[in-house]
Amino acid sequence: MKEIFLCKYGEIALKGANRASFEALLCRELKYRLSGIGSFDIIRAQSTIRIEPREDYDAAVLDAAYRVASMTFGIIAICRCGVAEKNFDDIKAKAVEYLADALGAARTFKVETKRADKTFPMDSGEVSAQLGAAILSAFPHLRVNVHTPDVVVKCEIRERAAYISAGQEKAAGGMPVGSNGKGMLLLSGGIDSPVAGYMMAKRGVKLEAVYFEAFPYTSIQAREKVIELARIVSAWAGSIKLHVVSVTKIQEELSRACCEDYFTLLLRRYMMAIAEKIALANECGALITGESMGQVASQTMQALAVTDNAVDMPVFRPCIGLDKEEIVTIARKVGSFETSILPYEDCCTVFTPRHPKTRPEIPTVIAEEQKLDFDALVEEALATDEVIYVKAEFTV
Ligand code: ATP
Ligand code: MG
Repeated sequence: MKEIFLCKYGEIALKGANRASFEALLCRELKYRLSGIGSFDIIRAQSTIRIEPREDYDAAVLDAAYRVASMTFGIIAICRCGVAEKNFDDIKAKAVEYLADALGAARTFKVETKRADKTFPMDSGEVSAQLGAAILSAFPHLRVNVHTPDVVVKCEIRERAAYISAGQEKAAGGMPVGSNGKGMLLLSGGIDSPVAGYMMAKRGVKLEAVYFEAFPYTSIQAREKVIELARIVSAWAGSIKLHVVSVTKIQEELSRACCEDYFTLLLRRYMMAIAEKIALANECGALITGESMGQVASQTMQALAVTDNAVDMPVFRPCIGLDKEEIVTIARKVGSFETSILPYEDCCTVFTPRHPKTRPEIPTVIAEEQKLDFDALVEEALATDEVIYVKAEFTV
């Protein structure tokens, strides 16, 4: 039987005059993502997007398309539907056939009908009642439960056909990527920064990323881990241009010339300044980090103020109010957690001070920073920028 997906979008429906451009962005994104999987029509109608396969694909292809669509920001719910002709006999027959597995495993159900096509001869109450009766006679073990059914059978009668499903599933939510500008993600190999990238992408921000390595203090495996994390995030956020910048010289200079207590803070200021320069050169309007209030010495309120003071660009820290446990829950959902916990060193941990300052004052930090030629070291680091295009792969 022919299957299609009905995608519901949330907030973008509320965007007034912008609505059409948001919808167009979402459709374009879906079209691009699904093109690696098969040939699909993406049709916008009645505040829903319908994804229709152009060919008779097997379940693996449809499963992949469903997965990719449900990971596309801007779609809040998705419904996998069997298609029936717009006459009640066909609706009945297709519902019994299409929902056999779901109804076979259920004990209770109810039918909900939405009649978008007002020319259909039966009203929604009649369709629900008669379809319910047909289902009961085909699956005599079932009972109707209108309050807490195991399965909600949905029947949507629209302009071209009727769509039958065993209910909708929650999808990625958020807003289409690209609808809210572009941000530069400081991506380390940790748990938090991939989550921060995911959260901003969910709000429509396209991502570019920068990873600071300190070869040979950090290994090539540490770099590969970050590339893999970017690849995992790209399944949600789309392709990511990843900059790899060496901070080896900076770390060596810091440890030679500056007070150890300030190493991490000073390094963070370098990272922010370098990231800001790359961001400006690549049309990014903000920096994004995985910092969370109080998580480590460099993430106290005073330390974050010192970090912010190194740049003019807004710094978004979507994990700021989350507990580690909450960040881990999101990391698992994103699919990055298992990679993040692989044990490769990060450049921050190589030169970790024994007694980091938790309440640093900006003038003291700047005085310490002035022991080195900050701008020259930033320029030198920028010259090491190596670009890796992490292409999002959408395949079966
Ligand atoms: P994460 O789990 O994201 O690594 P963390 O708790 O280890 O975070 P820090 O190491 O202090 O925290 O880093 C704070 C933030 O600074 C990170 O979330 C990331 O955005 C950025 N950052 C740290 N190290 C690097 C790096 N080597 N390259 C790029 N960004 C980095
Ligand atoms: Mg880290």
